Formats: sequence, structure tokens, C-alpha cells
Amino acid sequence: MLDVEELTVAYPRRPPSVDGVSLTVGRGETLGLVGESGSGKTTLGRAVLGLVPVSGGRIGFDGQEIGHLPAVRRGPGLIHRIQTVFQDPNSSLNPARTVGDSVAESLHGGGRLSRARRRETVGELLERVGLPAVAATRYPHEFSGGQRQRIAIARALAAEPELVVCDEPTSALDLSTQAQMLNLLSDLRREQELSYLFISHDLAVVRHIADRIAVLYQGRVMECGPADQVGLRPAHPYTQALHAAAPIADVAAQRTRRAARTAAMIPADAARRPGGRPDSCPFTSRCPRAADVCGSRRPREVVHDGVTLACHLFDPESGHPDSAVPSSIAH
Ligand code: SF4
Repeated sequence: MLDVEELTVAYPRRPPSVDGVSLTVGRGETLGLVGESGSGKTTLGRAVLGLVPVSGGRIGFDGQEIGHLPAVRRGPGLIHRIQTVFQDPNSSLNPARTVGDSVAESLHGGGRLSRARRRETVGELLERVGLPAVAATRYPHEFSGGQRQRIAIARALAAEPELVVCDEPTSALDLSTQAQMLNLLSDLRREQELSYLFISHDLAVVRHIADRIAVLYQGRVMECGPADQVGLRPAHPYTQALHAAAPIADVAAQRTRRAARTAAMIPADAARRPGGRPDSCPFTSRCPRAADVCGSRRPREVVHDGVTLACHLFDPESGHPDSAVPSSIAH
């Protein structure tokens, strides 16, 4: 469905926001894209949507190259197939229009439907996301944040998409609404064979919904593999630090986590240092396992235990003193 190859998005006089990223999303699959703010995850999502210019590489969608097609030139035949749900539902809802009008505006082939059929379809979409059909007659400000996000999802579904880029769709919601929204997105994906590119800073949230997870740091993929493995047993030092920082409820697990967090503890001054050079691992200044080779050579992607990792520790040929893991080259 989505095939991103060596994608680079760079702006003048700044390190690339996305730096040679390759990843795929299969039909009906959810790929979670995780990283801190500034990791390039949102830029990557926006590149898929045609909202930022691509500097290099390609974005294939169902066999068609779309990376160099900005959203305004994609045409309705392509636009409806890739939709998005943003963190702030207000960005896709016009406060001056009724909910019904906002959803109807996105209806695929809506121009060919009679008024009555449009009203009926909008009502069905609202019910599918857990709202009453009568919500169509009301305005966005009359709903809570979680309900507005449901409306934004109904609006995205109205286009009958095949791929939905979900950019932090639950991060502005309280915990219980967040769980409801994740369950709703999972149900909709199953019912409609949707594919999601699910972007979040929260590893635990992504593990809940994704089949596979790709972890981004300073525009590069650090680790990519099955959600349970990357989310629960991360191998890459950066993913381990993210995992250690995630809030958890269980006290015993918290203690274990705290120990890991101490091991991955990032000196405050190191965290503020600029990113790695092109010929180094970008995590070098923050990594508790960094060695000389990390600051002088970019790690290649290798496969270890079914997970793709960009870390010298997993490449026996890297020259890292602790690397002893047999691996195969990913690309
Ligand atoms: Fe740490 Fe080196 Fe691996 Fe980068 S390549 S994550 S610095 S051990």
C-alpha cells in the first residue's frame, strides 16, 4: 500500500528533518511511527500527504509514485484514498458549519448523491463513530474534545480512504477517552480494511494499536519491527530510553523501568547538543553504550531477531567493542 524509500525532507541551512527513511505499510496494516518531538515523524506523515516538499527518495502508494506530487496537484481520485486525522480536530472542522456539512463535504462521490441520501450517509457515518445521527445538525463547539475527534474521524471516513495518516490523534484527550478512541480506530480498521500510519510520541499508545513500530530519531529509523517486540522488548538503546520514560501503572514494573531509565539517563547538557553528523549515529551524545565508532561512522541497518536496527552494537563488522550479534544486512 505505502512504500517509502530513502525519503529525505530537508530545509536550507538545517539538518534534514527526514534523513533517508525507508518503510512500508501493508494493506489493512497499522505502522506506528514513534519518536520525540523533532524526530521527523510528523514531517514524514506530511510528506505522505503531499503537504511538504520532498528533497530525495520516493513515496509509492499502491504502485504509483506520489512523493513529488503536492496535495494541490493530487486530484480527487488520489486525495480521497489518503486521508488524515490530526491531533486537533478543530483543524479539520469549520466552526461556522454544522457537523453534518463538515462531514458531507468530504463524502466520496457526494456530488452525485441526492440531499436525502447525503443526509442518510452522514448519519450512518456519525453512528459508526459512536455519535447519534442527530449530531449532524449541531455545531463543533457543542461537543467535547473526544466527540470532536470522533467527528473528525467520521469526516476522514466519508472519503472512503484506504490509508489514514493519524498524527497524534489521541494525545490531546484524557486517558479514558484515549482508550475509547484507540478501540474505535482499531474496530474501523478491521471493518473497513484500512491501513494506518499512526504517529505518536508515546510508545505505549502505539503498541496498543500498531502491528509494527518504526522508531525515529533525528530523522532516521533506529528500530523497526513487530509491535510487541519493539514496544515491550526494545533492542536499540534509543528505544530502550523511550520505553524507560513511558509512564506505567504497575508499581513493580515501575521499579524495573526506573533502573532502566537510570541506565539510559541522559545528561541534560548532552540532550541539548546538536544532532549527530551525517557520518555518525545521531544518538551518540545521549547513548550510554556509545563507543568511538559511533561518533565516526553511520550505523547501517541490520536485521536481528526479525527487527531492523541501526546500531553498531548489532553489526559484528562495525568495530563497536560490544558488538557480537550475528546479523544480516536489511537494505
Ligand atoms: Fe548507541 Fe552507538 Fe548504537 Fe548509536 S550506534 S545507539 S551510539 S551504541
